[in-house]
Amino acid sequence: MPTHLRFRRRSFLGLLFLFSLSTSALYFIYSAPGVVNEYVFMVQARGIQIRENVKNIGAQVLEQVVRGAYSNNGTDYAYDFNVSESDAPPTTYLPEGFTYLPSQVCPERLLSMKGRLEVNMSEVSLEEVERYLLEGEPQMASGGYWKPKDCLPRWKVAILVPFRNRHEHLPILLRHLVPVLKKQRLQFAFYFIEQEGMEPFNRAMLFNVGYKEAMKDLDWDCLVFHDVDHLMENDRNYYGCTDMPRHFAVKLDKYSYMLPYNEFFGGVSGLTVEQFKKINGFPNAFWGWGGEDDDLWNRVRFANYTVSRPQRDEGRYKSIPHHHRGEAQFLGRYSLLRHSKERQKVDGLNNLNYSPLVSRRPLYTNITVNLSRMLAPVADY
Ligand code: BGC
Repeated sequence: MPTHLRFRRRSFLGLLFLFSLSTSALYFIYSAPGVVNEYVFMVQARGIQIRENVKNIGAQVLEQVVRGAYSNNGTDYAYDFNVSESDAPPTTYLPEGFTYLPSQVCPERLLSMKGRLEVNMSEVSLEEVERYLLEGEPQMASGGYWKPKDCLPRWKVAILVPFRNRHEHLPILLRHLVPVLKKQRLQFAFYFIEQEGMEPFNRAMLFNVGYKEAMKDLDWDCLVFHDVDHLMENDRNYYGCTDMPRHFAVKLDKYSYMLPYNEFFGGVSGLTVEQFKKINGFPNAFWGWGGEDDDLWNRVRFANYTVSRPQRDEGRYKSIPHHHRGEAQFLGRYSLLRHSKERQKVDGLNNLNYSPLVSRRPLYTNITVNLSRMLAPVADY
């Protein structure tokens, strides 16, 4: 059939389909308003989801175009969906019935780590999650510190989570992640760092604050920088550190489970305290959405580290949908990124001042901080 006729036939069928949808919708409206609301909601939600996907993929393509225009020697951002995931070859899981001693270092790969995880994003109160997670842990100290008793933890991990206007995500993240970290036999505690004040969100500076505060508590040796709305889908994604900085959130549902670009270092990443100190932490100069994770990537590369990533589907994450408007994009990020190297020495852990409000909750430490540009003055570079 000629193409134009085929097209007409398709559009005719499409119209027929829409018409039948609208007649059934009219029937619903007439007969059952409750059902209608749900129906309309479903149609709307589906529409929003499709729009979001298109927006995300579109944004990533645009991203690459902009990166191309701004790329600079040594920071050449290639668009590469088929990045080879660098990692040591997987070691095997322990045989069934294996027991270890309290005097032995906990293994990294335990049989209790089954792989694929159920992800529950339904809202829940913090009190309910506290009740559920503290059951059987009566001695858990305020602040949610936990360590295994049946072996020596391989890593002491501070989980740092910056946020603003997302209180409802905290219990969802805790409910999901605490049981996984216990299974992974890590020593850990959560630090939620909340930004106050009118300045745009500064994810990176909040991480620096969280790091400094966490180190006052305990000699953590591994840091996990975690977005509040990211839920891992595989419990073999081990949150311990390695001799190289690690990018955990490799495959995100919002990017159709593809790495958006080779240098993507966002969502969830981890560095040893030693590595983090060596690179002078995160930059403080990124106000608003975007760029700070790219700068961290540059810092890590300038220090001659290569980022490691979990293999295959271990790095999959879902993000909790939210109704808040996103933070404003930081449009100056590309020009800052061109000078990552020079700025690394003068902006980071070494130029940061702040006055936090710290309080302990049963499952985490809360750090509230009002951030402003004056708190991290940058010398000429
Ligand atoms: C931003 C990053 C972000 C990435 C993926 C980039 O444009 O600079 O901060 O992680 O997009 O969303």
